[in-house]
Amino acid sequence: MEYHQHQIGDYLKCPRLFQLRHVRRLAPKTQPRYINVGSLFAKGVELLHQGKSMVEVFEQAIDKEANKLTSSATSGEVINDIITDTYTVEAMLNGYKKWFIDENDLLIPKITHIFPEFRIEGLKGVDWFQFNYVTRLDGLCYDTNNHQWILEIKTSIIPPDMLVRVLATNFQINSYHMQLLGSSSYEIDGVIYRIVKKPTIRQKKNESVEQFRFRLTDDYITRKEFYFHQIPVYFKEFAVIEFRNEFDMWILKLKDSFEKEFWPKNGFSCRNNNSECMFLKYCADPTEETIETHYKVVEKNETVEDRGNDEQDT
Ligand code: SF4
Repeated sequence: MEYHQHQIGDYLKCPRLFQLRHVRRLAPKTQPRYINVGSLFAKGVELLHQGKSMVEVFEQAIDKEANKLTSSATSGEVINDIITDTYTVEAMLNGYKKWFIDENDLLIPKITHIFPEFRIEGLKGVDWFQFNYVTRLDGLCYDTNNHQWILEIKTSIIPPDMLVRVLATNFQINSYHMQLLGSSSYEIDGVIYRIVKKPTIRQKKNESVEQFRFRLTDDYITRKEFYFHQIPVYFKEFAVIEFRNEFDMWILKLKDSFEKEFWPKNGFSCRNNNSECMFLKYCADPTEETIETHYKVVEKNETVEDRGNDEQDT
């Protein structure tokens, strides 16, 4: 059995969400028709960190996603939105490449190596409930002093003091840190957050899409201080110890849910930042008919996008 940190994170948000998504393997039949700028940008950054050129990034990620969504678009308006979002991702990636890769020498700390999407796994659990715990974040990196850091890329505005305050409460990052510490090869200083804001300018009424594309790209190249921030945040030792104890408690609760087949609903996670949990339709009307109408069983190799619940961690 194998669980990913995001899956255990789902249990913390809502045990019923975990059951529906990862035990019954349900997902909405209708998938999003619009580009998810944040996740496509993250994919592009991963490819850039692998040493791919912008042309390759477009071929392997952006064009692929845009073509898939355009082929199923039902109106010209939707197609225009897909094109505009594609240009937004392009501008953000051009800026990221310039300010975080080409001009890396100016950054503090200066990163010398990045291992994108670095994965680390190990056995967790108790008694019969043992599983391979897989953790992976945007990257593991080294600075000029050979210090090790977890790399996190964010597209939302987060004040630096907020990053410092919430690091000890971030389940995804602390899980990853715990796994890295479980291997003697790693001694992690903290997290380097790279924040790339989404654009604040919009297409003007009398502006063509191409003119907007040019203005947007220029904005990301000329307004570095506004769009790009690199913030190192250090781990505190006592918080790491506390997290390990809490993690063990959550795993015992998960084991208990399996044994008792008890998956309580956490109503606080149903709606968040104007988006809703993908299972809200079911929880509002929990019948097999609702499942048949709105949900499908996902195959192991199929990925399902969830805009409602995946972006809650800071
Ligand atoms: S709708 Fe609410 S209660 Fe239902 S699975 Fe989602 S978060 Fe849990």
